[in-house]
Amino acid sequence: MKYYWLTPKDQRRNNWILHCETAFGVSLRTKYADLQCTKCRKVDELAAIERGIDADVSIYSKSDFLTSDDGFVAVSKRFRDSLASHNVSNISFVSIPASDNYFIMLPNAFAAIVSDNVGMEFHRKCATCGRFRETCFFPVLESFVVNPDPLALNVPDVNQENTRGRQFWFCGSNELVSVLKPQKLKGLEFTEAY
Ligand SMILES: [Zn+2]
Repeated sequence: MKYYWLTPKDQRRNNWILHCETAFGVSLRTKYADLQCTKCRKVDELAAIERGIDADVSIYSKSDFLTSDDGFVAVSKRFRDSLASHNVSNISFVSIPASDNYFIMLPNAFAAIVSDNVGMEFHRKCATCGRFRETCFFPVLESFVVNPDPLALNVPDVNQENTRGRQFWFCGSNELVSVLKPQKLKGLEFTEAY
């Protein structure tokens, strides 16, 4: 079976979930301040989402699938409903208060890593929290346990990082792709996983 990464097309606008843009640049919203590493300034993204999304957070997009600038996948109601109608599994959705048409998509369970060699590059480990400043490349397929359900989405249990934080990348089988492709979901592309 072949697998593909769900990848977003470029967005015209910036979208932030845990951060906001101010006159002085991008800053973390104050409610998450205690979750932030004092050295690398990254925040525990899942703990932050668990705490809740601020009431004024909204998504500016015409896409059905996009990535926020702080690494979360946001999907439209149309996208969410089409996954539900095809019984796509291992996903949950978090409401975005000021955007009732968009949801943050997260996996119910992360795919276990079973190899010392995930095929990624890890750069500049933070001495305080142990996270890497940046990573390159996707984890290779044989390094993680894909869900036995061909219609499940997989997010490997390894932090894929950019300088802002963790990036949540979803991977699905060719069977899942054949379900999603005909629906012409805006903003979504498929990149073969190896
Ligand atoms: Zn750190």
